[in-house]
Amino acid sequence: MKVLIIGSGGREHALAWKVAQSPRVTEIHVAPGNAGTALEPGVRNVDIAADDVPGLVRHALAERIDLTIVGPEGPLVLGVVDAFAAAGLRCYGPSRDAAQLEGSKAFTKDFLARHRIPTAAYGTFTRETFDPAWVRAQRAPLVVKADGLAAGKGVVICATTDEAVATTQAMFDGRFGKAGDKVVIEEFLEGEEASFIAMVDGTHVLPLATSQDHKRLRDADEGPNTGGMGAYSPAPVVTPEIHDRVMREVMWPTVQALAAEGTPYVGFLYAGLMIAADGTPKVLEFNCRFGDPETQPVLARMRTDLTALCDAALDGRLDSAQVEWDPRAAVGVVLAAGGYPDAVRKGDVIHGLDAAAQLPGKVFHAGTTLRDGKVVTSGGRVLCTVGLGATVEAAQRQAYALAAAICWEGMQYRRDIGHRAVERERAGSSPAR
Ligand code: AMP
Repeated sequence: MKVLIIGSGGREHALAWKVAQSPRVTEIHVAPGNAGTALEPGVRNVDIAADDVPGLVRHALAERIDLTIVGPEGPLVLGVVDAFAAAGLRCYGPSRDAAQLEGSKAFTKDFLARHRIPTAAYGTFTRETFDPAWVRAQRAPLVVKADGLAAGKGVVICATTDEAVATTQAMFDGRFGKAGDKVVIEEFLEGEEASFIAMVDGTHVLPLATSQDHKRLRDADEGPNTGGMGAYSPAPVVTPEIHDRVMREVMWPTVQALAAEGTPYVGFLYAGLMIAADGTPKVLEFNCRFGDPETQPVLARMRTDLTALCDAALDGRLDSAQVEWDPRAAVGVVLAAGGYPDAVRKGDVIHGLDAAAQLPGKVFHAGTTLRDGKVVTSGGRVLCTVGLGATVEAAQRQAYALAAAICWEGMQYRRDIGHRAVERERAGSSPAR
């Protein structure tokens, strides 16, 4: 079987690495991929951009690709799955209509409200309908969100209502481009965040191992929001009871409602949740794809053949699918370029990859490329080192040993990925899924 993976980040390297373990798979193409996928045994890069939908369809037809897995949201929102389906190709991911769940925050908030799925109270505004008096009547802090895709950066937490008004105005003035033409302003939720990621076949929901990412740049969750500086799995915050509540109160109602509205959802479905102190889950956002960096530690624990699960999903039979996990914990630490999440320098040679390859664990590439046979940096998030261990603390040690073997000029990373789980472990609380 020939598999195509669309995308070029750490998530896509992890997807390609995982698919390469399948005995059914003979060839794996990654469009466009990175240095890590270029060097991964059994995997080759093809020079087609992730958002070149006609180019991807042409390649899949010409190469007789049996299964395509879409990594990033961009091509999904552009309708890559619709285009593949129209050409008779099997492509795992949501249709353009279903991908609206990530493409528009206003769409999602209205959808959640309509179906009474728990989420923060909110208002949606355009420049024409904006009402500063409404904002000033709310209780601060408030969260101001650009409606459209803004690479995970279009969310601003405002300490005062005045700041929320100013932030909203700045979004209308183009701070996030067209993504800010519409703005959602919502209540600030207290609690602990968790990522809940499932595979969905239109009707059935197969939850994957739980995980938690770290969005802030610096240790102790300080500094600006980023695309994600690390993640670990499982996430002890999602106890078996909370897991059941999330399935009952969020995942099933969402999938049922989408089907009932005529936009059945097939693909990875990622709910970003805030879990309140009393265990109540509320939806912060949906992503229509696997998370990055959550994919790296989650797939490091997956024992089941991912291509078999994608096939089951495309055939609508996820209800009979089983997924088996390595009981060990996994921790993924993102190694980022200096300056990230703002502009970064590119083209720095990365040292230590050969030494790291001799150590236990796995280094997934993200913003890397090959230049004259050397691996050089080409983006903000450059690598993700993943360690496994009997405890999160042991997995953390393995991931950090890999990170310590690697360097380039300006490399930065957090030293505390998994700290909440480690604190729970030390306090002796029960294990999670
Ligand atoms: P989003 O892209 O909507 O998930 O927002 C990015 C990040 O902003 C989330 O991961 C949270 O850390 C934070 N955030 C978003 N909405 C809220 C909210 N209503 N209350 C508290 N924090 C939030």
